[in-house]
This record gives sequence, C-alpha cells and structure tokens, in this order.
Amino acid sequence: MGKVSLGQRIKEGLFLLDGAMGTELIARGIEAGTCNDYLNVESPDTVLDVHTAYLEAGSDAVLTNTFGANRFALARHGLSGKIEEINTAGAQVARRAAGADRYVLGDIGPSGHFLQPLGELAPEELREAFAAQAKALLAGGVDGFIIETMTALDEATIAIEATKSVGGDLPVFASMAFDRAGDGFRTMMGVDVESAVSKIVSLGVDAVGFNCGTVSLDEYVELAKEFVSAVRALSDDVAVCAEPNAGKPELVEGQAVYKVSPEDFAEAAQKIYSAGINIIGGCCGSSPAHIEAVATRLQRPS
Ligand SMILES: [Zn+2]
Repeated sequence: MGKVSLGQRIKEGLFLLDGAMGTELIARGIEAGTCNDYLNVESPDTVLDVHTAYLEAGSDAVLTNTFGANRFALARHGLSGKIEEINTAGAQVARRAAGADRYVLGDIGPSGHFLQPLGELAPEELREAFAAQAKALLAGGVDGFIIETMTALDEATIAIEATKSVGGDLPVFASMAFDRAGDGFRTMMGVDVESAVSKIVSLGVDAVGFNCGTVSLDEYVELAKEFVSAVRALSDDVAVCAEPNAGKPELVEGQAVYKVSPEDFAEAAQKIYSAGINIIGGCCGSSPAHIEAVATRLQRPS
C-alpha cells in the first residue's frame, strides 16, 4: 500500500515538519560560512544524517537542504552554475532518508535581492531562477514544495507562480517571516498578515503560513491565531503551516543564540496546533529534540 498523496495527507491531522538544518550541520563538523546547499553534492551523507535525525524524532516530512540553492544565493559562493546539480542532489538525499513512506518538500528560499523598482532585479529573471530550482528539485523526486522566509510579497508571488508552472499538480506551501509591529505583525518589507494571506491564498497554494522572524514564543501563538482567522475568512480548504524559531535570538559574543528548550517549544507548538494550524515544524534554533518534544506532546510516538 502506497502512502496517501501529500495534498490529502495535510488534511488529516498533525503533519510534522523538521527543524533547523544549518545548526545541525555545524554540530556535525561543517564549518560556519560553508555553502550548506553544496553539501548535497560534496557530503551527502552528512545531510542524510540530519534528515534521518529528524525522521527518527517524528517528522512526517523533511525539507531539502536547498534553502539557498537559487541562482542569486548560490552566486555568493561562486556556485550559480550548479543549480541543477545541487537541487537534484538535495532532493535525492532527502528522498533516500524519507524512503517511500514519508514526505520530501523541496525547499525554496528568497533570492536576497530586491525586485525593481526598489532594486535591480527584473521579475522575469527571478521567475526563471525559481523555475529552474523547482524543476531540478522535481527531477530529484520531491512530493511538493515549500517556499519560505519570504519578506516581500512580489517575490513570494513570483516564487509561487514559478514553482506551480513547473511543479505539475504537486502541492505548494508558502510561508513568510513576520516580526512584531505595533499591535500586529509585519514582514521586514512591511507586509501585514491579511495582505500576505489574501495574496498567497489567491495564488492557489495548498498551505500558507509563517516561519522564522524575530518573535517570542508567546507572540508566535498570537500570530498563529491572527493567521488562522485571516485564512479561514477566505478558505476552508487551504492548510496553515508554522515553523517558529526556538524563541527570540539572544546575542552571545556577537552570535545569535536560541535558548528555548524543547519542552517550552512543544508547549507553544501545542497552542499553535490548538489555534488551528496542523502543519508544524521549527526554524532557527530548533533541533531534533525540539521536534521530538512536539511529537510527544501532541501524543504521537516517534
Ligand atoms: Zn529561521
């Protein structure tokens, strides 16, 4: 018996994603400043080991190690010629870890540039870059895609459209990073929850949500409630996803450190789940221990 499709599975209760990749790579001896995405090619067993740790902790899906594997982010490491190789290898290693029974989400992050007229980036150039990434992820065998940590709505829109244009019927999740702004929340580029949700839902995604940002655990719970009511005002069908950081970072010797314990993280995750979000993972500072605590707290044996 094969597994149910990803689109169906996310309508059936808790769907647990994984946690941070970068810190787990560093914990396995990878030096900070390395191009993490290139490790899919150069050291796939290290990446496999991180995926496996999350799957053992109870993740239903792992995200490919391709957050920075678009042409623009790779150019910073002189690797923009290796988009296909890095993304396809990233999907393959995640597939190898997840096997046939669990899911692989192709991870797509921001370009790191501003679109015209704010910046230099032409929409068509960006669209081609995201389409090339999604195509290479698809070739490696992903079950769907997650576009995350977006702060600009025009870039998020292009990423969603480009991914859908090459991804066939595969589900697409889209997530933006919010910070506290007055009584509510906005992305770094000033997008509020309602604007983000109405635009992203109109593009026909399977899930919309939030990840990362500089927000405390209590604020994530508040954001979750605001998000769910914004989504439900528009659709009963679209799922909501959340990947909180392990709290707000504290600066220790110039480094951002996330200090929230797995238990406290799981308590917040439970509140987020109760608010109506069934796709939950972790962003910065979260580890397999955090994911395992969520699985345990929401009463699922790992
Ligand atoms: Zn993050």
